[in-house]
Amino acid sequence: MVLPSTGPLQFDPCENCDDRCIRSCPQQAFAEILYTPAEYGRNELPGRKGNYSRIACNVQMGIDEALGQPEMVADYERVMKVIKYCRQCECNCPVGK
Ligand code: SF4
Ligand code: SF4
Repeated sequence: MVLPSTGPLQFDPCENCDDRCIRSCPQQAFAEILYTPAEYGRNELPGRKGNYSRIACNVQMGIDEALGQPEMVADYERVMKVIKYCRQCECNCPVGK
């Protein structure tokens, strides 16, 4: 049976949040508006407000990669370099916890 769509939800998980994702970033990757709808060509922007810098986040990725250490990885049954990427923005989000 083809079911009709109920349409988009009005729920906005960020509405009453204290922006802990933004505040937890060690590289201040959300510090400034970098994209506007007119420049970006759409209303859905990186970081929602157009304030996500992939370049700043990549700086942290490079640091995380340099800090990678050999560890036993059970899934592969061998010791290999394990990189623990930052993800502070994601892990500090209270939604879904
Ligand atoms: S921490 Fe989660 S809920 Fe809060 S602003 Fe960031 S993405 Fe939205
Ligand atoms: S992964 Fe880390 S460095 Fe990248 S945006 Fe999130 S908190 Fe910032």
